[in-house]
Amino acid sequence: MIRLAKPGFFAPLLLAACGTPAVPSDPAPASASAPASAPASASASASAAAPVPASVPAPPSLSADEAATLLFPGDAPAAAACTEIDPRARIRCLIGKRYEGHASARATVLSLYEKTGSVVGVEEPYVMEGGFRGSIRIVPELPVGRYEKHLTWIAEASADFDAFFDGITARAKAGVHYRHRALSWKFFRSVGRTTPSAYASGWSIGYNVSGSLHGSAEAVRETLFHEIFHLNDAARLSGPEPWSRKKLGSIHDAILQKCSTKPSCLAPYAPMPTMVRGGTYYAFQPNNGDAVNEYGADLAARYYRETRAVLRGEKPIKPAFKCGPEENGRAWNILVDEFFGGVDLVPEC
Ligand SMILES: [Zn+2]
Repeated sequence: MIRLAKPGFFAPLLLAACGTPAVPSDPAPASASAPASAPASASASASAAAPVPASVPAPPSLSADEAATLLFPGDAPAAAACTEIDPRARIRCLIGKRYEGHASARATVLSLYEKTGSVVGVEEPYVMEGGFRGSIRIVPELPVGRYEKHLTWIAEASADFDAFFDGITARAKAGVHYRHRALSWKFFRSVGRTTPSAYASGWSIGYNVSGSLHGSAEAVRETLFHEIFHLNDAARLSGPEPWSRKKLGSIHDAILQKCSTKPSCLAPYAPMPTMVRGGTYYAFQPNNGDAVNEYGADLAARYYRETRAVLRGEKPIKPAFKCGPEENGRAWNILVDEFFGGVDLVPEC
């Protein structure tokens, strides 16, 4: 999703959009196809009785070939310069070559890979058909130089997610199966545009260095949590239907039935304040794929925001989402039980 700089009709403003899997925006089918199956196994394998690991990092699943495509799209000769047999060594070599001349960025990317198995590369050029955003030209843009701050924010967000999930997992009675590591990061720039800020597809996250939502480390963290939820949502059930449609669809549909797209009516139901300029709350914005996917992702981001504050001993965020209309509490519980081990640290209403 994307947040705009200018407040719209309502206070927070923004707009935007993340191309969820529902928006067929990611033209890179190679990576998009592989992912859906990998994460499912992570959730299926751990039975409730299994001991809960300190954290639930899915084992790094990027192959050296995937990393080569990510780092050198369309440039096989460059990628061929790294010939190590050991995949991890080859990936480290590929990263080193791609970020040659950008020492600090290279160090960050290598460190992120060592810690999480995630690889930071670039998106391939293409024209996105972005729903209500229209057509947008996407070009690869490495996060170096003036864009390196985005890389820093991603690394910080990644460390924050590790701590967050460690906290959740330590309090969960059952395993928390949520993949937030071993991701492919595809950096890009949207030509003459500030949207979309990010999108998610097949265990990869597209990240726009010109994205209007990427104004601060905190904004980036929440946007990335939203995007990573999309990946888990898409992979949770077998078959093409995302979990959000199946489990939250009736709640979301009923809210839309009641409010249509009227912001004043939707406000109490919107998990996050993000709004589309000239539109409505992002979780209910039409012409953006199945909006229930955005509702689910925003709900996850809200869970992250409120729960993180509790875990860090910070002031509780008020009002608590679950204490709003009864639909909110219902959706909250369904999400928490499925994705976050039933751990609800937000005080009772
Ligand atoms: Zn989204």
